[in-house]
Amino acid sequence: MALKEIIILPDKRLRLVSKPVEKITPEIRKLVDDMFETMYDAPGIGLAAIQVAEPLRLITMDLAKKSEDGETNREPRVFINPEILSSSEELSTYEEGCLSIPEYYEEVERPARVRVRYTDLDGKLHEEDAEGLFATCIQHEIDHLNGVLFIDYLSKLKRDRVNKKFEKAAKRAAE
Ligand code: ZN
Repeated sequence: MALKEIIILPDKRLRLVSKPVEKITPEIRKLVDDMFETMYDAPGIGLAAIQVAEPLRLITMDLAKKSEDGETNREPRVFINPEILSSSEELSTYEEGCLSIPEYYEEVERPARVRVRYTDLDGKLHEEDAEGLFATCIQHEIDHLNGVLFIDYLSKLKRDRVNKKFEKAAKRAAE
């Protein structure tokens, strides 16, 4: 396994539309391993392949809560070519963050429940209902596959502010 670099705002690759995974090859398995290592190291609960500069429709996720003794029971999940089949009319609001927009958090309103279809690492097709944090996280990550970021749901004022902040930071880092 290897840690990958997470690309951050304003990297234009975050706006790419990722391509479907055609076949689960050893390279895809290696990428998944690397994405988990990178996600746990960050740490984060979800990562889309484009965030490590691979424009593929592939997501890793782990929503396991820490147990009382502080041990983390890992529940790694992989979503290949995920699609949202339907969304509830009811909405819910979560404070979201993104490994590609570090240390920035804002509340985002999204459908409270979604039905998702995806392929697993064994090539098996699944359909699943997501709610709560899972629903928010899978929508946030599928957005990444379409070049959409959670700041796109904020007011123009807030979005401009965060874009400017990250553009300035990138300029400073390049100097
Ligand atoms: Zn994100």
